[in-house]
Amino acid sequence: MTDAFEKIRNAEEQLLCRSYSRYPIAVASGQGSRLWDVDGKEYTDLLAGIAVTSLGHCNPELNETLARQAGILWQVSNLFYQEPQLELARALLSTTHHAKAFFCNSGAEANEACIKLARRYMRKVKKRDAFEIITLEGCFHGRTLGTLAATGRASLSDGFTPLPEGFRLVPPEDLDAMAAAITPDTAAVLVECVQGEAGVKPLNHDYLRGVEKLCRINDILFMCDEVQCGLCRTGKFWGFQQAGLAPDAISVAKGLANGLPMGAMLATDEMARGFEAGSHATTFGGGALVSAVATRVIEIMKRDNLAGRAAELGAETMARLDEIRLQFPDKIREIRGQGLMIGIELAFEARNLWLKLIQAGFVCSLTHGYTLRLLPALNIDREDLHKFCDALKLMLAEG
Ligand SMILES: *Cc1c(COP(=O)(O)O)cnc(C)c1O
Repeated sequence: MTDAFEKIRNAEEQLLCRSYSRYPIAVASGQGSRLWDVDGKEYTDLLAGIAVTSLGHCNPELNETLARQAGILWQVSNLFYQEPQLELARALLSTTHHAKAFFCNSGAEANEACIKLARRYMRKVKKRDAFEIITLEGCFHGRTLGTLAATGRASLSDGFTPLPEGFRLVPPEDLDAMAAAITPDTAAVLVECVQGEAGVKPLNHDYLRGVEKLCRINDILFMCDEVQCGLCRTGKFWGFQQAGLAPDAISVAKGLANGLPMGAMLATDEMARGFEAGSHATTFGGGALVSAVATRVIEIMKRDNLAGRAAELGAETMARLDEIRLQFPDKIREIRGQGLMIGIELAFEARNLWLKLIQAGFVCSLTHGYTLRLLPALNIDREDLHKFCDALKLMLAEG
């Protein structure tokens, strides 16, 4: 640990609420898929701010849009009409079957919007007092009280109870359990097609289609949390498109404005009838500055076919990782993922390996102690992924 790092760590101890356990890096700057720490050490970033800077750090095209919009208008609240929010809605809705957007500022808020709209749609449009939201074990939907209840993991809600009622957790990949959980109280099912925080667990497509079908049969809503697996990450624009689904609503955030806080809920025309003027609101949501940047993000993703690139680079990287797994079958338990959302599950507690990778200049995340998670920028150089594979292989060979 260097002096510069120690100084920052000590200052943080004094100044910030202790709510994070940080990686041992103090980041000073970034460019593309490179990060530099306060001592000038360079890293290859395979995490992209947890699937946020999907177009790379300080992307010059986004910087240009940011600077241009910064001189025109930043934010006026949702009391006013403004074009940039509409342009973003048009751009986003051109990628999906949804017809209406609601903008907010984070993934948790996007899920809150989905949950609130689902309940209100049932009460006001369907005239049914259905409120319960069914979610899947292993899911992650956010840290507000409502999304904590949806996430249903005791370790995350320790000390925060009581949580809001009206959520029910079922095991994934079990259609009978899902069918049994649906009651007249059920308003919607909310799923992540690829469970990110669980350590990159793609759900079986037949299972997902089965869940959607159960929702249709029971006349309840089907919703997908696309906060991590959306926006080209899995190799299609949206994760749900991989399984040919048509959710009534999706939540979006993380990569939407490449690092500016932004979230969205996209809903069908029918489901959107659940809101009326005054039903739901947020001061910052869809501000002109973030909207302009997010619109450019969507344009670039489409122009450069970053979904296709994620599919191709992801398949190539997973094939290489699988080769390495076959060379070290006692060390790598499983390679999982879809597109550029990849989990490497080790057969041993992986903290030391993960620290060695950081020392060697590779940043990825360590999830639940055993899984290395890669969520690189979608425009990362192919070479960077191969260099990571080389480094991993070398470290596994060394012991
Ligand atoms: C990160 C994440 C969230 C929460 O997003 P925040 O912006 O941190 O509120 C919700 N769902 C999924 C799938 C996520 O990965």
